[in-house]
Amino acid sequence: MREQTHTGRPKAPHAEIAGAGFAGLTAAVALLQRGWTVRVHEKSQELREFGAGILIWENGLRVLEAIGAHDDVLASSSAPPFYETRIHNSTVSKESFGDVRLRAMTRQHLYRSILNAAVREGADIAVGSEVAGADPDGSLVLASGQTLKADLVVGADGVASKVRDSIGFTQTRRKSRDGITRLLVPRHKEELGPGEWDNVIDFWNFEPRVLRILYVPCNDENLYIALMAPWEDPEGSRVPIDLPLWREAFPQLAPVLESAAGMPGRYDRYETTVLETWTSGKVALVGDAAHAMCPALGQGAGCAMVNALALAAAVEGTNDVENALQEWEKKERPITDRCQEKSAFYAETRGMSKGNQFTPTVLEAARHRPTGTF
Ligand SMILES: Cc1cc2nc3c(=O)[nH]c(=O)nc-3n(C[C@H](O)[C@H](O)[C@H](O)COP(=O)(O)OP(=O)(O)OC[C@H]3O[C@@H](n4cnc5c(N)ncnc54)[C@H](O)[C@@H]3O)c2cc1C
Repeated sequence: MREQTHTGRPKAPHAEIAGAGFAGLTAAVALLQRGWTVRVHEKSQELREFGAGILIWENGLRVLEAIGAHDDVLASSSAPPFYETRIHNSTVSKESFGDVRLRAMTRQHLYRSILNAAVREGADIAVGSEVAGADPDGSLVLASGQTLKADLVVGADGVASKVRDSIGFTQTRRKSRDGITRLLVPRHKEELGPGEWDNVIDFWNFEPRVLRILYVPCNDENLYIALMAPWEDPEGSRVPIDLPLWREAFPQLAPVLESAAGMPGRYDRYETTVLETWTSGKVALVGDAAHAMCPALGQGAGCAMVNALALAAAVEGTNDVENALQEWEKKERPITDRCQEKSAFYAETRGMSKGNQFTPTVLEAARHRPTGTF
């Protein structure tokens, strides 16, 4: 039985959430929409998203609709007509996805849109509040030493999750041989000359060395470029970027690369994290804390948001959170697992370079409607 207030009405169930990233904020909005109270703990002093741009597919866009962030996202994002793949600047495929929507935007814009939804729903977000760990009995422990009790604890604290590691979830973590430097630069559409510069373009070079640039127009002003190089390549992975190296490999993008030169940034190797289980007692892990994946299919944040929304739907109206969490994992996990495996496969084989890789099987996660939410 849920505890009652002095008016006789059942007391609203309460969640403590670690991490105000895409997963944590989505969970917060979706729980608030279902009558929960939530508190989100963010270790940074500022609510912002690291990184440059992001691709969000149909599944993620449906979640944004469900949490009331979709209109904000539309205000400054693009719908690229094609996903084009080129090897040595020669087009190998130009794919479009029919009824599966794909939008590109800056990370800040996506983040702001979700944060606005959280604020509208009345989320209590504590900045500078670092989480040290959690307990399956429904406790969240802060770095300050304070312990907070809840009906549900959500570990949405990213790839280095303290919630996950403090509980000791069995896990394997694998780093990939490639990594990416992500930058946001002005569009430079005029200087790039004639061409279909509103497409996403995946430029691959294999000779004389492996280098790749994913070109993603976010809106009329901002272009997201992701520069991929093996981590063992000191010049390719250097930040700020090695301009002569990149300009020689991709002369067709010279104006863009020149404006990226000197920009601060970070080279990140991809990581795959696989856990034996995503839940323990009243604790659930979502997003990169549970299933960090290689970015080949652009689905890490999409799956994170889908799973956060489905989690809220799973615990709606329940008196048995532990069982609801197990049911949630049973239903939602297989599709994320398959997406993660495919992403790792493409990263290891560099198979996206072949073009025409977005088959119906590969688009499975993008088409997914989480159980009980739509
Ligand atoms: C190169 C690259 C490209 C990508 N491209 C795409 C793409 O196009 N599309 C897509 O869908 N996905 C993409 N992804 C994946 C996507 O970025 C992640 O899956 C997504 O950001 C995960 O969100 P999250 O909320 O789980 O974690 P995070 O975004 O890492 O958020 C975790 C939050 O928790 C906070 N935190 C951490 N530790 C603590 C603590 N101890 N206490 C309190 N707070 C804490 C952090 O400060 C952060 O705010 C890409 C990833 C990479 C590496």
